[in-house]
Amino acid sequence: MASQNDKSSRACRTRAAQTRLIHEGYDPSAHSGSVKAPIYHTSTFLFNSAEEGAAFFRVNNKTALPGDPEQAGLMYSRFSTPNVDLLEKRLAILDGGEGALAFASGMAAIATVLMAIARAGDVILYTSPLYGGTDAFLNRVLPRQNIHMAAVPAEADEKTFHAVAEDAMAKGPVRIVYTETPTNPHNEIVDLALCRKVADMIGDAQGGAPIVICDNTLLGPVGQQPLKHGVDLVIYSLTKYVGGHSDLLAGAVIGRKELLDTVYGLRSLLGGVIDPHTAWLLTRSLETVTLRMKAACDGARRVAAYLSTHPKVSRLNYPGLLDTNSHRGKLHRTQSSLDGSTFSFDAGASRADAFRFLDALKLIKLAVSLGGTESLILHPVSTSHSNVDPARREALGFTEAMVRLSVGLEDPDDLIDDLEQALAKV
Ligand code: PLP
Repeated sequence: MASQNDKSSRACRTRAAQTRLIHEGYDPSAHSGSVKAPIYHTSTFLFNSAEEGAAFFRVNNKTALPGDPEQAGLMYSRFSTPNVDLLEKRLAILDGGEGALAFASGMAAIATVLMAIARAGDVILYTSPLYGGTDAFLNRVLPRQNIHMAAVPAEADEKTFHAVAEDAMAKGPVRIVYTETPTNPHNEIVDLALCRKVADMIGDAQGGAPIVICDNTLLGPVGQQPLKHGVDLVIYSLTKYVGGHSDLLAGAVIGRKELLDTVYGLRSLLGGVIDPHTAWLLTRSLETVTLRMKAACDGARRVAAYLSTHPKVSRLNYPGLLDTNSHRGKLHRTQSSLDGSTFSFDAGASRADAFRFLDALKLIKLAVSLGGTESLILHPVSTSHSNVDPARREALGFTEAMVRLSVGLEDPDDLIDDLEQALAKV
């Protein structure tokens, strides 16, 4: 039986992340005993007095007077709502960030963060490839604001990374180092500590280090915590594993409060904040994200092992099969605790083979997106990456036979049966 001392030391222990994801930041007794948080379907909030409204706006506008509250209260739903506040408190837990900001989509998060940090004349140094929407925003939209780009291959060694950084500095002050790891759909591994090192080298040379940003959508906060590897801000498409049910669109950024303050200002102006109902759905999803992601990754390991020996499958890009003595393998083990459940492979040798295979699938659904309870599959060259220049696509290792599979939560044996009968048609 536990002694009184054991009990009290247990009571004082900081609660585990999984417990905090279920309980933190919400007290049912303040909400008529409702065990789950109510959804605040309102566009605006009552001030208790004219002076209180004025003080909240002063705090929000960063013109607070002595005696004003430290934080503004609720004012208007484009700034925040109780559902968004609660979600943001819990989103920061797994990544170990000081705070989080939630958005209406992953792209709203990415665009708002980049615009909040980069100014005209700045340079963004990014690892390539990135998610297609991010690549388009960097290369088609931001250059119109006189923001310049420099790209470095995802798995570049230190010498190459430094050389690209020198070229980037020659174009102007490098304000952001932007990365995404593992890459989608090749699962290349970017060295996050090297991104930090290069950012610090740039900082020494130009006075002021760039902000290192990592899109962590593919492994999620359960499989990888980039803040621990020197990253300043982590970005998510919550639409994927964190939401986890293919029933919502959302995004987030997590990191230090001082950086988030700047992003919050622009989010409030642009209006890309997540709505209360979607925030509520995500608060529910966070309670099971660890269980779901681990189960999906376990299933993916079984499916990848099956595919790895199939005669019609080649170029299987699954991090769990990396040689643990290789540089990539070691890096993956250092940075990540899960192998993910989204990976690509060639089904046959041509587009016709891949299409025959995809059209023959009965259980696995042919659709874009990933990270849901159901397994999804797509043909990147004709869908998600169809607007990438063909020569660049080829250089990045896309083939006509390539498909990308996101393993969901079905029994892996059923997925393997489905793959088996569809591969027989190739
Ligand atoms: N980042 C990655 C890695 C993605 O895969 C996606 C979408 O597929 C996004 C960002 C954009 O997210 P959303 O579709 O939620 O805007």
